[in-house]
Amino acid sequence: MSLEELYRSVILDHYRSPRRQGSLAGDHVHAEGTNPSCGDEFSLDLAVEGDTVVDAAIQGQGCSISQASGSMMAEAIVGKTLPEVDELIHKFKLMMAIEEGDDPIDESRPGSVLGDLEALQGVRKFPVRIKCADLPWATLQDALREAAGG
Ligand code: ZN
Repeated sequence: MSLEELYRSVILDHYRSPRRQGSLAGDHVHAEGTNPSCGDEFSLDLAVEGDTVVDAAIQGQGCSISQASGSMMAEAIVGKTLPEVDELIHKFKLMMAIEEGDDPIDESRPGSVLGDLEALQGVRKFPVRIKCADLPWATLQDALREAAGG
């Protein structure tokens, strides 16, 4: 299996079986976003205690890129501190060429920097789809602002 095929299968797996799908019952903040250019929708419940993301739940509909990105993100952020989440957001946006800077991915060790999220790196070649991949992350940033008190 080529790396490209592996990435495609990781994306499809998250798309078909989204992790942490649903909503949260306890204390949490909520954010939602849309990507009109593709029709993607995404919403996020985020529970923050102290400076740690203790739980997250996602709902959404749209293309495989947007929904897989959200599933991978939800899986990646739970248990991380807020500075660690900020760092993750930064590395993701560097990988996708949304922020300018060096690509953080170690090509000799696939998955070693961003785990499953690295499967999305091929998307940066398709500028229209970058918005799909970024939708959950923009929604996460809204939720973090809300958790910080607006
Ligand atoms: Zn999309």
